[in-house]
Amino acid sequence: MSFRNPTLFTLLLAGALLISACAAPANPNAEGKINVVTTIGQIADAATIVGGEHVHVTGLMGAGVDPHLYVASEGDVTILQEAEIIFYNGLYLEAQMNQILEQISEYKTVVALAESIPVGERLASPIYDDEYDPHVWFDVQLWQYVVGAVRDAYIEFDPENAADYQANAAAYLTELEALDAYVRQQAARLPAEQRVLITAHDAFNYFGRAYQFRVLGLQGISTQSEASTADVQELTAFIVQNQVPAIFIESSVPVRNVEALQEAVAARGFEVRIGGQLFSDAMGNPGTPEGTYLGMVRHNIDTIVSALLGEE
Ligand SMILES: [Zn+2]
Repeated sequence: MSFRNPTLFTLLLAGALLISACAAPANPNAEGKINVVTTIGQIADAATIVGGEHVHVTGLMGAGVDPHLYVASEGDVTILQEAEIIFYNGLYLEAQMNQILEQISEYKTVVALAESIPVGERLASPIYDDEYDPHVWFDVQLWQYVVGAVRDAYIEFDPENAADYQANAAAYLTELEALDAYVRQQAARLPAEQRVLITAHDAFNYFGRAYQFRVLGLQGISTQSEASTADVQELTAFIVQNQVPAIFIESSVPVRNVEALQEAVAARGFEVRIGGQLFSDAMGNPGTPEGTYLGMVRHNIDTIVSALLGEE
């Protein structure tokens, strides 16, 4: 077909331009990158790594922030409304944000990443009927489903760059395989009977299942439930009876409950150390090793194993 008729050619060209303009992603930001917004830092990290040069990621919840209690500010609502893709954990981790995320999901891409994990591999919530434990990032193998879900969402939104998302995800998944092996290797330094992890809240059940630790939390699965006197007494008795050498604080949960537990144990004539701070529901500060998912997981297993072995 040739274009002898310049008017027809112009019309066809205009039509083609119009179609390509409509197919472009809505509201690309100033740098022409996809505007991605996430809740917890662990997800922001995965979204940044898999998206690479094609995305600009804003994580709403920084270091020390508790996602169970986090309420979206007015500024957050604006950020969420301007996002092109929103990634969150789901399984009621971000309990106070569920409603707004559901509303926004009616008109843009909003992905509850932990819901990509097959139901058979999820743990039930120990306190809420018909719900699942949301703390899936503690099992490095389960986290690979989340990374896969991030990749798939990007490919669907921006198929032109599918090869880049595939390659970025594949490289990161290889790192996660190595990380999982590292956690297993470190855990193996502890004899089975010394693998007891006592923390501020019940975040570590996936960790316990994956790496064969007995896990006990002072507060329930959500930090919304307060530790009761009965909980403290029960844990105190357990620590004394089993001569547990160390218990742990978490960066996103106030330390007072764990300190109260330590004092209650001391009153029974046994000394339990605070074995260090773990990064449970929030990562560390940006720019520190614990400010990445890989670094946070390494820090946690190193801290747990050294404290329980009594190493300095
Ligand atoms: Zn939690």
